Amino acid sequence: MASSPESLSPASSLISYTHSEDEIVDVTVTGVEGDNSANISTSFYPGSHSLESDVILVSNDDVMFCVHTETIANVDKNAFASSMPPHMPFSTGTARGAAISVNEDSTTLSIILHAIYGTSSAHYSLGLEALLKAVNHMPHHGIVPEKLITPTSPLSQQLQSVVPYYPIEIYTLAGHHKLEFLAQRASSHLLSFKMHTLTDGQAEKMGPSYLRRLFNLHLGRLASLKALLTEPPQRHPPSKHCTFHDQERLRRSWSLASAYLLWEARPDLPVGVIQTTLDSLIKVMWCEECKTASKARVRDATFRWASVKVGYFLFPSA
Ligand SMILES: [Zn+2]
Repeated sequence: MASSPESLSPASSLISYTHSEDEIVDVTVTGVEGDNSANISTSFYPGSHSLESDVILVSNDDVMFCVHTETIANVDKNAFASSMPPHMPFSTGTARGAAISVNEDSTTLSIILHAIYGTSSAHYSLGLEALLKAVNHMPHHGIVPEKLITPTSPLSQQLQSVVPYYPIEIYTLAGHHKLEFLAQRASSHLLSFKMHTLTDGQAEKMGPSYLRRLFNLHLGRLASLKALLTEPPQRHPPSKHCTFHDQERLRRSWSLASAYLLWEARPDLPVGVIQTTLDSLIKVMWCEECKTASKARVRDATFRWASVKVGYFLFPSA
């Protein structure tokens, strides 16, 4: 909600305050005359940065953040434009000395400001919901997430740290905001994802392009597995110990074992399962030449299955 910037009272130079490094907002600021008080961020308070702040953002739960117009405008000249009167974005410098109400809760605003400043908010032990909300709300404040969330940015590191626990949530977020590196990071954890559990909301949010990539990831892996398993061991010249028909029987057994593996195959089928299933077939072979060829075939299939890159299926042009 837009509101007129108010003049910054000299209170910031008169107040006394304490702060804790452990909480986002637990500080009560009291004027020297004791007639007013406010909460202030423990990361963005007067003196928190080497350069003196020149504007205060106030969240909708009444927490103040002392920030710098130039830092914010450098990230995105439209940042927080919706909170400013028309024709007064941060880039014009007219916000200096103002207290600006931002229609956002203090936790979300804190995460967004940390992202703008390139600092980490990980010490607040934020949950998934808080991180997702902050990224999803950036566009509400005129900020393009792609500008702030790069492979090495602190917020990106925080998102990547929860990928193993919430891969589809992070993939959906990445798809919605076109954060390809993050989608790739999530993809390696999506092999065991049950596609039938994908919700309409997730499909709609990630968009058709990333939805197609997710299907390709699963179908591509399964097609690759099929190609690896259906190729039987090499024949050897027939002998009286192992005739052409003996070798045909071996190839049929191989096909049956492969069909068994493919019947329940998942994109995350462990290499060990392939190895164990085919090894049980090799154990009952009496021909040493067939055994050697089969062992080589198993080694090749398991090596290639372990080497198949997930990213290739998601991003074949990469
Ligand atoms: Zn043989």
